[in-house]
Amino acid sequence: ADTLEIVATRSAGSEPSTPDDNVNVVVRVRPLCEKEKKGGHGMVLQFPGNGQIMCEGKAMGNNGGPNIKVFTYNVVFEPGATQDDILQYSGVKRLIEMAIEGFSCTAFCYGQTGSGKTHTLTGPPGLFHGKPNPKDERHGLIFRSFVYLFQRLQEHKDMHFILKASFLEIYNEKVIDLLNPGSARKPLAVRWSKKSRGFYVENLFTVDCEELDDLLAVLEEGMRNRVVGSHQMNDHSSRSHTMLTVHITSEQQAEGGVFISKQGKIHFVDLAGSEMTKKTMSEGTTLEEANNINKSLMVLGYCIASLSDNKKRSGHIPYRDSQLTKLLADSLAGNGVTLMIACVSPAYSNYAETLNTLRYASRAKRIRTKPIIIMDPREALILSLKRDVNALHIENEHL
Ligand code: ADP
Ligand code: MG
Repeated sequence: ADTLEIVATRSAGSEPSTPDDNVNVVVRVRPLCEKEKKGGHGMVLQFPGNGQIMCEGKAMGNNGGPNIKVFTYNVVFEPGATQDDILQYSGVKRLIEMAIEGFSCTAFCYGQTGSGKTHTLTGPPGLFHGKPNPKDERHGLIFRSFVYLFQRLQEHKDMHFILKASFLEIYNEKVIDLLNPGSARKPLAVRWSKKSRGFYVENLFTVDCEELDDLLAVLEEGMRNRVVGSHQMNDHSSRSHTMLTVHITSEQQAEGGVFISKQGKIHFVDLAGSEMTKKTMSEGTTLEEANNINKSLMVLGYCIASLSDNKKRSGHIPYRDSQLTKLLADSLAGNGVTLMIACVSPAYSNYAETLNTLRYASRAKRIRTKPIIIMDPREALILSLKRDVNALHIENEHL
């Protein structure tokens, strides 16, 4: 049951996303690190192609033969994949285009600590010490997405755009503004907005971004504050989630002089280490942490499990039970478009966590959503026709 529909794509392959797939799941396998090579652990994963990953377990299967599991995803990035490959083939470009169109979009990295989540989203550590070189090939997906976003915006000559960005961290269920480090002492509240029918973070600093450099400054500033604010960087980052959001408001004069305004957004989420779910009750964890650390991660898991289950999908989904899922609700709840990048180590020594991540990713693959554009209801009717045309346009681009 772990094997899903086969999509004929693989690392550095063809365009991954089919138009009606609003939850895309890709897997990135990082190279073996020095420690793993020295330890002689070897690879536990193989890549037969076609978006498949083969995982051969240490123990024998039930029938005494080898214990081989095959998983299929929209795309599998093999250890040789570059940072640019992730931009080109993960489906994130489609997410960006849909955010411009007025949808709520989320790209999140999931995986155990050390599997390459931060590397994939922001690049290796040290990239943001001093002025980064835009041509640096180590730049992560967020940087690359910003560049692509601005390219696309410039092509919409008939529209006017207002961009705002924010960058927050969730640690122990407390929301901290990474653009305002003082908020570490006074966490921000997550509230429900009747007007926009969504959750938002009260008093979160949102920066107007007129140019690409403004967006990049938000990324740099947040990354710097994240490091400065924590004494044990690794420990802290394995327990916290970060979320960088770009809000895109587009304004357009439609036919008949009607003025149309749409609000799309894209979140980039670097999740706490997935191993945290089990470590909750382990040594050295305070009671408060045990209750809070991975509440967000666990509830995200429940939400994904419910959403991916045909019988539960229309029932209660526990978005309200954690800060992270409140903020992702509009993307996950069926209004949005989600890209999950599952990050795994290929080493034998990480077999158990890798298998957990691959299974989690397979579950996420079964979620079906129906995205809607957020805009003024008055304009909805006028736009419904135009939207159909746009949908067709997007479909055609991705066939
Ligand atoms: P995580 O954020 O999931 O804890 P990191 O992104 O910090 O993991 O990655 C752990 C280590 O592995 C870092 O030293 C990082 O630079 C390295 N690494 C991760 N992914 C890759 C990759 N695709 N290529 C080269 N090095 C990588
Ligand atoms: Mg990290």
